[in-house]
Amino acid sequence: MIIVMKAKATKREKDEVLKRIRELGYKPHVIRGTTRDVVGAVGDERGKFILQTIESMHGVESVVPILKPYKLASREVKRETSVIRISPEVTIGGKEIIVMAGPCAVESERQIIATARAVKDSGAQVFRGGAFKPRTSPYSFQGMKEEGLKILAKAREVTGLPIITEVVNPETAELVAEYADILQIGTRNSQNFELLKKVGQIRKPVLLKRGMSMTIQELLMSAEYILSEGNQAVILCERGIRTFETVTRNTLDLAAIPALKERTHLPVVVDPSHSTGHAQYVASMSFAAIAAGADGLLVEVHPDPEHAFSDGPQSLTPKKFSSMMGKLKAYAEVSGREL
Ligand code: PEP
Ligand code: MN
Repeated sequence: MIIVMKAKATKREKDEVLKRIRELGYKPHVIRGTTRDVVGAVGDERGKFILQTIESMHGVESVVPILKPYKLASREVKRETSVIRISPEVTIGGKEIIVMAGPCAVESERQIIATARAVKDSGAQVFRGGAFKPRTSPYSFQGMKEEGLKILAKAREVTGLPIITEVVNPETAELVAEYADILQIGTRNSQNFELLKKVGQIRKPVLLKRGMSMTIQELLMSAEYILSEGNQAVILCERGIRTFETVTRNTLDLAAIPALKERTHLPVVVDPSHSTGHAQYVASMSFAAIAAGADGLLVEVHPDPEHAFSDGPQSLTPKKFSSMMGKLKAYAEVSGREL
Protein backbone atom coordinates (compact mmCIF):
# COMPACT_ATOMS: atom_id res chain seq x y z
CA MET A 1 0.00 0.00 0.00
CA ILE A 2 1.10 3.58 -0.58
CA ILE A 3 0.38 6.19 2.05
CA VAL A 4 0.37 9.56 0.31
CA MET A 5 1.18 12.32 2.77
CA LYS A 6 -0.26 15.81 2.43
CA ALA A 7 2.24 18.33 1.06
CA LYS A 8 2.07 20.20 4.35
CA ALA A 9 2.33 17.16 6.65
CA THR A 10 4.56 17.82 9.65
CA LYS A 11 7.47 15.64 10.76
CA ARG A 12 5.46 14.57 13.77
CA GLU A 13 2.52 13.48 11.63
CA LYS A 14 4.88 11.47 9.40
CA ASP A 15 6.49 9.82 12.42
CA GLU A 16 3.06 8.82 13.74
CA VAL A 17 2.24 7.22 10.38
CA LEU A 18 5.54 5.27 10.36
CA LYS A 19 4.85 4.07 13.89
CA ARG A 20 1.33 2.96 13.02
CA ILE A 21 2.57 1.04 9.95
CA ARG A 22 5.04 -0.85 12.15
CA GLU A 23 2.36 -1.57 14.75
CA LEU A 24 0.25 -3.15 12.02
CA GLY A 25 3.15 -5.46 11.17
CA TYR A 26 4.37 -3.77 7.98
CA LYS A 27 7.66 -2.15 7.02
CA PRO A 28 7.53 1.56 6.11
CA HIS A 29 9.75 2.99 3.36
CA VAL A 30 9.74 6.75 2.99
CA ILE A 31 10.07 7.87 -0.62
CA ARG A 32 10.81 11.57 -0.89
CA GLY A 33 9.12 13.32 -3.79
CA THR A 34 9.53 16.83 -5.11
CA THR A 35 6.27 18.11 -3.63
CA ARG A 36 5.27 15.49 -1.08
CA ASP A 37 6.50 12.30 0.55
CA VAL A 38 4.85 8.96 0.15
CA VAL A 39 5.32 5.99 2.41
CA GLY A 40 5.36 2.51 0.94
CA ALA A 41 4.09 -0.01 3.48
CA VAL A 42 5.29 -3.44 2.47
CA GLY A 43 4.82 -6.83 4.00
CA ASP A 44 2.39 -9.72 3.87
CA GLU A 45 -0.04 -9.22 0.99
CA ARG A 46 -2.76 -10.97 2.97
CA GLY A 47 -4.56 -8.61 5.28
CA LYS A 48 -2.94 -5.49 3.83
CA PHE A 49 -6.29 -3.70 3.79
CA ILE A 50 -5.90 -3.08 7.54
CA LEU A 51 -3.51 -0.31 6.40
CA GLN A 52 -6.51 1.54 4.94
CA THR A 53 -7.33 2.71 8.49
CA ILE A 54 -4.28 5.02 8.28
CA GLU A 55 -6.28 7.23 5.93
CA SER A 56 -7.96 8.90 8.89
CA MET A 57 -4.66 9.98 10.48
CA HIS A 58 -3.48 13.58 10.51
CA GLY A 59 -1.29 14.60 7.57
CA VAL A 60 -2.45 11.72 5.38
CA GLU A 61 -3.95 12.49 1.99
CA SER A 62 -4.84 8.98 0.86
CA VAL A 63 -4.00 5.29 1.12
CA VAL A 64 -3.93 3.40 -2.16
CA PRO A 65 -3.06 -0.19 -2.99
CA ILE A 66 -0.03 -0.80 -5.25
CA LEU A 67 -1.35 -3.03 -7.97
CA LYS A 68 1.95 -4.34 -9.32
CA PRO A 69 3.69 -7.28 -7.63
CA TYR A 70 6.84 -5.15 -7.33
CA LYS A 71 6.00 -2.29 -5.01
CA LEU A 72 8.93 -0.05 -4.10
CA ALA A 73 10.36 -0.39 -7.62
CA SER A 74 7.16 0.73 -9.32
CA ARG A 75 6.34 4.10 -10.80
CA GLU A 76 3.10 3.98 -8.83
CA VAL A 77 5.14 4.70 -5.72
CA LYS A 78 7.41 7.32 -7.29
CA ARG A 79 6.64 9.14 -10.51
CA GLU A 80 10.00 10.81 -11.12
CA THR A 81 13.09 8.77 -12.07
CA SER A 82 15.40 8.16 -9.13
CA VAL A 83 18.68 10.00 -9.32
CA ILE A 84 21.32 7.83 -7.66
CA ARG A 85 24.41 9.41 -6.22
CA ILE A 86 27.58 7.44 -6.86
CA SER A 87 30.16 10.02 -5.74
CA PRO A 88 30.17 13.78 -5.17
CA GLU A 89 30.58 14.25 -8.95
CA VAL A 90 28.59 11.37 -10.43
CA THR A 91 24.86 10.66 -10.34
CA ILE A 92 22.87 8.21 -12.48
CA GLY A 93 19.28 8.87 -13.56
CA GLY A 94 19.60 12.60 -14.18
CA LYS A 95 20.16 14.42 -17.46
CA GLU A 96 23.72 13.21 -17.90
CA ILE A 97 24.41 9.86 -19.59
CA ILE A 98 26.81 7.87 -17.42
CA VAL A 99 29.35 5.62 -19.11
CA MET A 100 31.02 2.93 -16.99
CA ALA A 101 33.98 1.40 -18.78
CA GLY A 102 36.93 -0.88 -18.14
CA PRO A 103 38.04 -4.46 -18.58
CA CYS A 104 36.01 -7.55 -17.82
CA ALA A 105 38.55 -8.60 -15.18
CA VAL A 106 41.33 -7.07 -13.13
CA GLU A 107 44.49 -8.77 -14.41
CA SER A 108 47.33 -6.57 -13.16
CA GLU A 109 47.97 -3.12 -11.76
CA ARG A 110 49.56 -2.01 -15.00
CA GLN A 111 46.55 -3.10 -17.09
CA ILE A 112 44.11 -1.42 -14.70
CA ILE A 113 45.86 1.92 -14.32
CA ALA A 114 46.45 2.22 -18.08
CA THR A 115 42.82 1.39 -18.89
CA ALA A 116 41.40 3.65 -16.19
CA ARG A 117 43.45 6.59 -17.45
CA ALA A 118 42.41 5.92 -21.05
CA VAL A 119 38.67 5.62 -20.39
CA LYS A 120 38.73 8.72 -18.24
CA ASP A 121 40.42 10.68 -21.02
CA SER A 122 37.62 9.59 -23.36
CA GLY A 123 34.92 10.81 -20.99
CA ALA A 124 33.89 7.73 -18.97
CA GLN A 125 32.63 8.73 -15.50
CA VAL A 126 32.91 5.33 -13.75
CA PHE A 127 35.60 2.63 -14.00
CA ARG A 128 34.66 -1.06 -14.16
CA GLY A 129 36.65 -4.21 -13.51
CA GLY A 130 35.85 -7.62 -12.00
CA ALA A 131 37.94 -8.84 -9.07
CA PHE A 132 35.62 -11.77 -8.30
CA LYS A 133 34.63 -13.43 -11.57
CA PRO A 134 31.69 -15.85 -11.85
CA ARG A 135 32.87 -18.09 -14.70
CA THR A 136 30.95 -20.78 -16.54
CA SER A 137 33.96 -23.09 -16.23
CA PRO A 138 35.69 -23.79 -12.92
CA TYR A 139 38.94 -23.99 -14.89
CA SER A 140 38.69 -20.41 -16.20
CA PHE A 141 40.38 -17.46 -14.45
CA GLN A 142 38.37 -16.72 -11.31
CA GLY A 143 39.65 -13.22 -10.65
CA MET A 144 42.31 -11.61 -8.44
CA LYS A 145 39.86 -11.26 -5.53
CA GLU A 146 40.99 -8.92 -2.73
CA GLU A 147 44.25 -8.12 -4.46
CA GLY A 148 42.14 -7.06 -7.46
CA LEU A 149 39.99 -4.84 -5.23
CA LYS A 150 43.13 -3.10 -3.98
CA ILE A 151 44.24 -2.44 -7.53
CA LEU A 152 40.80 -0.98 -8.33
CA ALA A 153 41.10 1.31 -5.30
CA LYS A 154 44.45 2.47 -6.64
CA ALA A 155 42.86 3.25 -10.01
CA ARG A 156 40.27 5.39 -8.20
CA GLU A 157 43.05 7.18 -6.36
CA VAL A 158 44.91 7.89 -9.58
CA THR A 159 41.95 8.92 -11.77
CA GLY A 160 39.27 10.01 -9.30
CA LEU A 161 36.79 7.71 -11.09
CA PRO A 162 34.37 5.78 -8.86
CA ILE A 163 34.57 1.99 -9.17
CA ILE A 164 31.99 -0.64 -10.07
CA THR A 165 32.87 -4.28 -9.39
CA GLU A 166 30.99 -7.53 -8.99
CA VAL A 167 29.86 -9.22 -5.79
CA VAL A 168 29.45 -12.98 -6.18
CA ASN A 169 28.29 -14.15 -2.77
CA PRO A 170 26.95 -12.85 0.57
CA GLU A 171 30.16 -13.87 2.40
CA THR A 172 32.39 -11.46 0.46
CA ALA A 173 29.80 -8.67 -0.04
CA GLU A 174 31.07 -6.51 2.82
CA LEU A 175 34.67 -6.89 1.72
CA VAL A 176 33.77 -5.77 -1.81
CA ALA A 177 31.73 -2.87 -0.41
CA GLU A 178 34.80 -1.57 1.44
CA TYR A 179 36.44 -0.91 -1.92
CA ALA A 180 33.61 -0.41 -4.43
CA ASP A 181 31.38 2.57 -5.14
CA ILE A 182 28.82 0.43 -6.98
CA LEU A 183 28.18 -3.25 -6.25
CA GLN A 184 27.45 -5.20 -9.42
CA ILE A 185 25.15 -8.20 -9.25
CA GLY A 186 25.87 -10.34 -12.29
CA THR A 187 23.49 -12.16 -14.56
CA ARG A 188 24.16 -15.52 -12.95
CA ASN A 189 23.30 -14.15 -9.53
CA SER A 190 20.29 -12.05 -10.43
CA GLN A 191 17.93 -14.42 -8.61
CA ASN A 192 20.30 -15.28 -5.77
CA PHE A 193 17.86 -13.95 -3.22
CA GLU A 194 20.21 -14.25 -0.24
CA LEU A 195 22.78 -12.15 -2.08
CA LEU A 196 20.11 -9.62 -3.10
CA LYS A 197 19.01 -9.28 0.53
CA LYS A 198 22.61 -8.90 1.63
CA VAL A 199 23.38 -6.03 -0.76
CA GLY A 200 20.04 -4.51 0.24
CA GLN A 201 21.45 -4.20 3.77
CA ILE A 202 24.66 -2.55 2.62
CA ARG A 203 24.41 1.18 2.01
CA LYS A 204 26.10 1.29 -1.39
CA PRO A 205 24.49 1.66 -4.84
CA VAL A 206 23.79 -1.65 -6.57
CA LEU A 207 23.77 -2.34 -10.31
CA LEU A 208 21.52 -5.33 -10.92
CA LYS A 209 21.95 -7.17 -14.19
CA ARG A 210 19.09 -8.94 -15.90
CA GLY A 211 19.32 -12.72 -15.82
CA MET A 212 19.84 -14.51 -19.11
CA SER A 213 16.31 -15.87 -19.15
CA MET A 214 14.63 -13.39 -16.87
CA THR A 215 11.43 -11.57 -17.73
CA ILE A 216 11.17 -7.84 -17.10
CA GLN A 217 8.80 -8.53 -14.22
CA GLU A 218 11.27 -10.97 -12.65
CA LEU A 219 14.03 -8.36 -12.93
CA LEU A 220 11.83 -5.88 -11.09
CA MET A 221 11.04 -8.48 -8.44
CA SER A 222 14.78 -9.00 -7.89
CA ALA A 223 15.21 -5.23 -7.53
CA GLU A 224 12.37 -5.34 -5.01
CA TYR A 225 14.43 -7.70 -2.82
CA ILE A 226 17.17 -5.05 -2.58
CA LEU A 227 14.76 -2.14 -2.09
CA SER A 228 12.73 -3.92 0.56
CA GLU A 229 15.86 -4.26 2.71
CA GLY A 230 16.10 -0.47 2.74
CA ASN A 231 18.62 0.18 -0.03
CA GLN A 232 16.95 2.51 -2.52
CA ALA A 233 20.01 3.00 -4.72
CA VAL A 234 19.35 0.37 -7.39
CA ILE A 235 20.33 0.65 -11.07
CA LEU A 236 18.97 -1.89 -13.54
CA CYS A 237 21.08 -3.27 -16.38
CA GLU A 238 19.88 -4.86 -19.61
CA ARG A 239 22.74 -7.09 -20.82
CA GLY A 240 21.06 -9.28 -23.39
CA ILE A 241 18.95 -12.38 -23.00
CA ARG A 242 19.37 -15.87 -24.35
CA THR A 243 17.49 -16.63 -27.55
CA PHE A 244 17.94 -19.06 -30.46
CA GLU A 245 20.33 -16.61 -32.15
CA THR A 246 24.01 -17.57 -32.07
CA VAL A 247 25.66 -14.86 -34.20
CA THR A 248 25.54 -12.61 -31.16
CA ARG A 249 26.47 -13.90 -27.69
CA ASN A 250 23.06 -12.80 -26.37
CA THR A 251 20.15 -10.85 -27.84
CA LEU A 252 20.04 -7.26 -26.68
CA ASP A 253 16.46 -6.54 -25.69
CA LEU A 254 16.29 -2.86 -26.55
CA ALA A 255 12.54 -2.74 -25.97
CA ALA A 256 13.24 -3.57 -22.34
CA ILE A 257 14.48 0.01 -21.92
CA PRO A 258 11.18 1.83 -22.58
CA ALA A 259 9.28 -1.06 -20.99
CA LEU A 260 11.29 -0.72 -17.77
CA LYS A 261 11.10 3.07 -17.88
CA GLU A 262 7.32 2.87 -18.01
CA ARG A 263 7.14 0.56 -15.01
CA THR A 264 9.90 1.71 -12.69
CA HIS A 265 11.53 4.87 -11.37
CA LEU A 266 14.91 3.12 -11.19
CA PRO A 267 17.60 4.18 -13.69
CA VAL A 268 18.30 1.75 -16.54
CA VAL A 269 21.69 1.16 -18.16
CA VAL A 270 22.70 -1.12 -21.04
CA ASP A 271 25.70 -3.41 -21.38
CA PRO A 272 26.44 -3.57 -25.13
CA SER A 273 29.47 -5.85 -24.59
CA HIS A 274 27.90 -8.96 -23.03
CA SER A 275 24.77 -8.50 -25.11
CA THR A 276 26.63 -8.76 -28.42
CA GLY A 277 29.84 -10.62 -27.59
CA HIS A 278 31.66 -8.87 -30.44
CA ALA A 279 33.57 -5.60 -30.22
CA GLN A 280 32.45 -4.56 -33.72
CA TYR A 281 28.78 -4.38 -32.63
CA VAL A 282 29.34 -2.48 -29.40
CA ALA A 283 29.24 1.07 -30.76
CA SER A 284 26.01 0.69 -32.73
CA MET A 285 24.23 -0.96 -29.81
CA SER A 286 25.47 1.80 -27.49
CA PHE A 287 23.98 4.45 -29.79
CA ALA A 288 20.72 2.49 -30.00
CA ALA A 289 20.55 2.14 -26.21
CA ILE A 290 20.87 5.88 -25.69
CA ALA A 291 18.32 6.56 -28.43
CA ALA A 292 15.95 4.16 -26.65
CA GLY A 293 16.20 6.10 -23.39
CA ALA A 294 18.93 4.36 -21.38
CA ASP A 295 20.51 6.39 -18.56
CA GLY A 296 23.96 4.96 -19.14
CA LEU A 297 26.21 2.21 -20.48
CA LEU A 298 28.50 -0.46 -19.06
CA VAL A 299 31.21 -1.15 -21.65
CA GLU A 300 34.19 -3.51 -21.65
CA VAL A 301 37.49 -1.90 -22.66
CA HIS A 302 40.87 -3.67 -22.65
CA PRO A 303 44.27 -2.32 -23.72
CA ASP A 304 45.12 -5.62 -25.41
CA PRO A 305 41.90 -7.54 -26.13
CA GLU A 306 43.70 -10.42 -27.84
CA HIS A 307 45.47 -11.30 -24.62
CA ALA A 308 42.61 -10.55 -22.21
CA PHE A 309 42.02 -13.19 -19.50
CA SER A 310 38.27 -12.98 -20.20
CA ASP A 311 35.86 -11.50 -22.74
CA GLY A 312 38.57 -10.27 -25.12
CA PRO A 313 36.46 -10.62 -28.31
CA GLN A 314 33.84 -8.20 -26.99
CA SER A 315 36.28 -5.69 -25.50
CA LEU A 316 36.97 -2.37 -27.22
CA THR A 317 40.50 -1.06 -27.41
CA PRO A 318 40.92 2.37 -25.77
CA LYS A 319 41.14 3.85 -29.27
CA LYS A 320 37.83 2.33 -30.42
CA PHE A 321 36.24 3.36 -27.13
CA SER A 322 37.39 6.93 -27.65
CA SER A 323 35.97 7.00 -31.17
CA MET A 324 32.64 5.63 -29.91
CA MET A 325 32.45 8.22 -27.14
CA GLY A 326 32.98 11.01 -29.67
CA LYS A 327 29.96 9.85 -31.67
CA LEU A 328 27.82 9.08 -28.62
CA LYS A 329 27.52 12.77 -27.76
CA ALA A 330 25.26 13.45 -30.72
CA TYR A 331 22.91 10.59 -29.75
CA ALA A 332 22.77 11.90 -26.21
CA GLU A 333 21.82 15.36 -27.45
CA VAL A 334 19.09 14.07 -29.77
CA SER A 335 17.67 12.19 -26.78
CA GLY A 336 17.61 15.40 -24.76
CA ARG A 337 20.54 14.25 -22.61
CA GLU A 338 24.10 15.29 -21.99
CA LEU A 339 27.38 13.44 -22.04
C1 PEP B 1 30.70 -8.85 -16.43
O1 PEP B 1 30.17 -7.73 -16.32
O2 PEP B 1 31.89 -9.03 -16.69
C2 PEP B 1 29.82 -10.04 -16.35
C3 PEP B 1 30.24 -11.20 -15.86
O3 PEP B 1 28.60 -9.81 -16.87
P1 PEP B 1 27.25 -10.70 -16.87
O4 PEP B 1 26.93 -10.95 -15.45
O5 PEP B 1 26.27 -9.77 -17.56
O6 PEP B 1 27.51 -11.93 -17.67
MN1 MN C 1 32.80 -9.74 -18.93
